[in-house]
Amino acid sequence: MIKIKKINHIGIAVENLEKSMWFWNDVLGLTLMNVEEVPSHKVKVAFLRAGDSDIELLTPLEGNFVMGKFVQEKGGGLDHLCLEVENIEAVLVELQENGIKLLDETPKVLPGRKIAFVNPSSSDGVLLEFYELI
Ligand code: ZN
Repeated sequence: MIKIKKINHIGIAVENLEKSMWFWNDVLGLTLMNVEEVPSHKVKVAFLRAGDSDIELLTPLEGNFVMGKFVQEKGGGLDHLCLEVENIEAVLVELQENGIKLLDETPKVLPGRKIAFVNPSSSDGVLLEFYELI
């Protein structure tokens, strides 16, 4: 049985991280936790603390044509929902046993966390990320 700990973060695609920081950080007063580039996903991200969860602002890096086109056309918007779990490998196995299509069959290891995405065709059109703190 999969046990979801909480909504870890909500990802928002933005055209310009520094520009968007003014709203989320300066106006709303959310504390900036860290900024990093994630080359495996061709994004630069900023995490801002919002109570028990985070807001993750993502901006496309060079060569990220899908998100690049999205932020250019829409100016940004909701990108994904991230659920935190305790054992991401076990979760991925259980999802596959249930016929859920995954974008990552094994988790990607990033600083402080392991993540994997579900194919939105299996999650009601929502890009869903699983996250394990390491
Ligand atoms: Zn995320």
